[in-house]
Amino acid sequence: MDIRFEKREHLKEKPDQKNLGFGKYMTDYMFVMDWDREKEWHDARIVPHEPMLLDPACVALHYAQETFEGMKAYRTKEGKIQLFRPEMNAKRMIKSNERLCMPPVPVDMFVEAVEELVKVEKDWVPSEPETSLYIRPFMFATESSLGVHMASAYKFVVICTPVGAYYAEGVNPVRILVEDELVRAVKGGTGFTKCGGNYAASILGQVKAEKQGCTQVLWLDGVERKYVEEVGTMNIMFKIAGEIYTAPIEGTVLPGVTRDSIIHILKDWGYKVNETRLSVDDLMKAGHDGTLEEAFGTGTAAVISPVGEFVYKDDKVTVNDFKTGELTQKLYDYLTGIQWGSVEDKYHWTVEVC
Ligand SMILES: *Cc1c(COP(=O)(O)O)cnc(C)c1O
Repeated sequence: MDIRFEKREHLKEKPDQKNLGFGKYMTDYMFVMDWDREKEWHDARIVPHEPMLLDPACVALHYAQETFEGMKAYRTKEGKIQLFRPEMNAKRMIKSNERLCMPPVPVDMFVEAVEELVKVEKDWVPSEPETSLYIRPFMFATESSLGVHMASAYKFVVICTPVGAYYAEGVNPVRILVEDELVRAVKGGTGFTKCGGNYAASILGQVKAEKQGCTQVLWLDGVERKYVEEVGTMNIMFKIAGEIYTAPIEGTVLPGVTRDSIIHILKDWGYKVNETRLSVDDLMKAGHDGTLEEAFGTGTAAVISPVGEFVYKDDKVTVNDFKTGELTQKLYDYLTGIQWGSVEDKYHWTVEVC
C-alpha cells in the first residue's frame, strides 16, 4: 500500500505517563483512507490528528453505519514495540462490516495501516508498567444523503491514545448489575459486531448500574432474559466447581480476542472450558452454595477484570469474598506477561512492529 505522509508543524507535548487514564490524549497522527465504488480503497495517508469536516447529512450520523476495533501496542522491557494478534481484529472487522453492508478492509491492508501508524507514533507508546498505546481503527459511511440505504462512500480511520492501567487502583474486583429488563443483542441482530449502535443502546443499562453502585452491566440473552451473555465491553467467564463456563459465540456475544486467548491458555493448563449457556439462576445458586469460585471479565482494555459481586433483582452474591481469585490473577499475570514481553510467547501471538 502506498501511504502518503503529511507532517505536522508542531508535535504535541506528551502527557504524564503516570496519569494517562483511558482515551484522554490523542497522538499526533492518524491513518485515513477513502472508499468509493469506482476507486474502492484509495488515498491512504498518515496525517495530523485533527477534526474532520463532515456534511451534516453524512449517513453515519443518522443511521449509524459505523464499525470499530480496539487493540493495543505494547512496549517491552527491551524497548521494542509489539501488537497482540492484530489479524484477529482485522478479521473481526470484516465480519462486522459484512453485517453492516460496509466494504471490507483486507487483512493485510488493515494490519499494515496499524503497523505504519504505530511506527510513526512509536514515541507515544508509553513505558511505565501496565501502560500501552490503545489503537482504535474505525470505519463509517460518509455519503451525504438521507435515504436509508447502503452508502456509496466510506472512510477507514485509525487513531491512537496512550492509556494507563484500566483500573487506577490496580486489578480490583468490581460489582456488577445483572440487567433483567433492557437487552443488548438478539440472534439475527448485531451483537457479534463491534458497531457503534450496540453501545448507544447499552448506555442506559450502564447508567442504571451506576445508580445502584455497580460499575458494569451483565447482559442476559435478549429472548428469555435467562442466560448470561457478556458485560458492557468484556466477555465474562465463571469458575464453578473447578470448571470454566462462558457464553458460546452464537451471534449475540462479541467474539473477543482476549476470550479466545484465555480459553487457549485455560485448556493448556488442563481446565475444562464449557462454552455453553449458563442461566442466571444457576449462577446465583452457585454463588449461594459456594461453588462459584471465581468470575472475571476479559477484554483488550482491562485484560482481565475480576468480579466481586453480582446483583440480580433483589438478590446478590459475593464472589471469593470480594477478592481477586487465584486463577484470575494467574491468568492476568500470564497474559499481560506475553503482551508486554516478559513471558515467553509460545503461542506466537505477538507481532513485533519496531
Ligand atoms: C470489544 C468487546 C469485547 C472484548 O473483545 P476483545 O477482543 O477481547 O477486546 C467483549 N464484548 C464486547 C461487547 C466488546 O465490545
